[in-house]
Amino acid sequence: MLDTRVASGETVRAGGFQTGRRDDVRGGGGSRSPVAAGRASGRGRDLLKSGFQTTLADRIEIRGLGVHSAAPARLILHPADVDSGIVILRTGLPGGHERLIEAKWSNVTQTSLCTVLGDSTGAGVATVEHLLAALSGLQIDNAIVEIDGPEVPIMDGSAAQFIDAIDAVGAASQSRRRRYLKVLKPLHVEHGRSRAEFRPAARGFHLDVEIDFEGAAIGRQRRAFDVGPQVFRREIGRARTFGYVADVKKLWQAGFALGSSLENSVAIDGEAILNPEGLRYCDEFVRHKALDAIGDLSLAGAAIVGAYHVYRPGHTVNALALSALFADRKAYEIVEGGPRPYRAGAGAQVGLAATAWAANAD
Ligand SMILES: [Zn+2]
Repeated sequence: MLDTRVASGETVRAGGFQTGRRDDVRGGGGSRSPVAAGRASGRGRDLLKSGFQTTLADRIEIRGLGVHSAAPARLILHPADVDSGIVILRTGLPGGHERLIEAKWSNVTQTSLCTVLGDSTGAGVATVEHLLAALSGLQIDNAIVEIDGPEVPIMDGSAAQFIDAIDAVGAASQSRRRRYLKVLKPLHVEHGRSRAEFRPAARGFHLDVEIDFEGAAIGRQRRAFDVGPQVFRREIGRARTFGYVADVKKLWQAGFALGSSLENSVAIDGEAILNPEGLRYCDEFVRHKALDAIGDLSLAGAAIVGAYHVYRPGHTVNALALSALFADRKAYEIVEGGPRPYRAGAGAQVGLAATAWAANAD
């Protein structure tokens, strides 16, 4: 059954987050946790062994409502063994059944309003992208995401509370080297007016996002990031989801966005931002699309070494880009960080020592 052991390795506490701590987010240690006071900075993660897999140092419990279903869910993030990847344990199904669903591109079942993961039985979990972005952005390789409802809680519409919760328990280095997906050649996909392209890069993950909305409230925005944990925390993770009031009304009539509110979305009415607190960044919209892309692309199942440029981004074009990448065996290779090559099926040796690009930190 559920194995929540942390493999042997160095444990790093990244600081607590008493400031702004909410009742609906709990680190597994609770008041017994030796977590230091003060808001998490993630500084401790610098002590993690570069190029090695990581998991959570402790379990995390988060409760909230889904933005589309308005359904409550309890989320428990468990540490997991090396090479587990991110695995969803969907509980609370009829008859008391449970399903394990790997957070992989091949398990994407819908991308119209959010990214939905599921399996052939119809069991699934919606709106996985912000949680997956937090895990990927903070370079957590292995975790079990236990959830008892149909949708990941939307929290404040960003990944901020997932980031704070992960930083509060910290990460633990594990005994195996991290696996990377290295993009080997340019690859282009289109979907309607959306375009996306993967390109090789010497090191790290370069993300370039461009949005183009009519009207001055959003307009055309473009941002590029060399994505690593500090950039993710500082520049991307706190950007909230957004929508036009007119569209939300249509979604409500269709039975979607039922949990949407100013508490978890930036609402735009014509040229006006309705949220009294305003925006968190002047270009919060394009940053949120970067957050979505990081979550969606984490479904590669390995940290990407390459560049991803997306114009008019969305979950569908992100999913198509990953599918196209995996459909072309010459477009990528899987390699391990550090000096040892990773051997993939049929004894074929792919990948070379590449510490220069394997370091995906800021
Ligand atoms: Zn989003």
